[in-house]
Amino acid sequence: MMRFDVFTLFPSLLTSPLQESILKRAIELGRLSVVVHNIRDYATDKHHVTDDLPYGGGGGMVMKPEPVFAAVEDILSEEREAKSEGHTGTPALHTPHSTFHIPRPPIILLTPQGRLFTQAVARELATHDRIVLICGRYEGVDERVRQFLATDEISIGDYVLTGGELPALVVIDAVTRLLPGVLGDPGATLDDSHTDALLEYPHYTRPANFRGQTVPQVLLSGDHAQVDRWRREQSLRRTWERRPDLLPKARLSQADRELLARLAQESAGGVSSSSFD
Ligand code: SAH
Repeated sequence: MMRFDVFTLFPSLLTSPLQESILKRAIELGRLSVVVHNIRDYATDKHHVTDDLPYGGGGGMVMKPEPVFAAVEDILSEEREAKSEGHTGTPALHTPHSTFHIPRPPIILLTPQGRLFTQAVARELATHDRIVLICGRYEGVDERVRQFLATDEISIGDYVLTGGELPALVVIDAVTRLLPGVLGDPGATLDDSHTDALLEYPHYTRPANFRGQTVPQVLLSGDHAQVDRWRREQSLRRTWERRPDLLPKARLSQADRELLARLAQESAGGVSSSSFD
């Protein structure tokens, strides 16, 4: 079971993506739990103010540190107490170790200044059983949240969004599909793009002829070895055409290397290979 604790000023932004399709099923299957916490509930003043003007002037608002610290610390300490109480009540359920040392989950700040989120990072996060995500808004959060509360910082790409909620959902979605039992077919993620630094081969489904465009014959042949070879070739070809920067990280066989050499020759010989046909 993977548990995400999401801290946000806009909890309802998280709702609908968790209520559809695979994320919904993962929750129903008990593989995923997403607990959304409203940072505003932890603002202690009368008007529940969570943002303020930036020191030094300039435009925009900055999220205040106190409610963010209070929210995250409250939720994490609550869990610790619940766990140690559980231990005294029902010792058989816990190892003695867990009573004395309950490790803190990673506390991830979503920020365009964080390390880039990739499939490798998703795989790394999928090894945890609990992850805390902090969503910023406005100009971002007070720097002390980054320095003294967060243990990790993730960016979903080199662009700036209005808040960390969509990035949080991106992380939750990518991690969840890697959890055992979430996708119907356990092998389904193995061929996915970026799993082995290669883009995936193209997919076709019925009809075999759509507006005169036919499915590659080999896919209809029933010859699995041939299909596998074709898919590998397509995968290499696509990566070579679209994302050659990925290839140095791929694990390539001798046959793979020969194919890539052939592609290089073809293009040097002026045979057209448009990038996005
Ligand atoms: N002024 C900030 C950006 C603030 S954007 C800066 O230049 O660094 C407001 C919030 O949206 C951020 O605090 C962050 O939580 C979220 N956000 C925006 N773009 C993001 C991205 N690419 N990845 C992750 N979070 C992002």
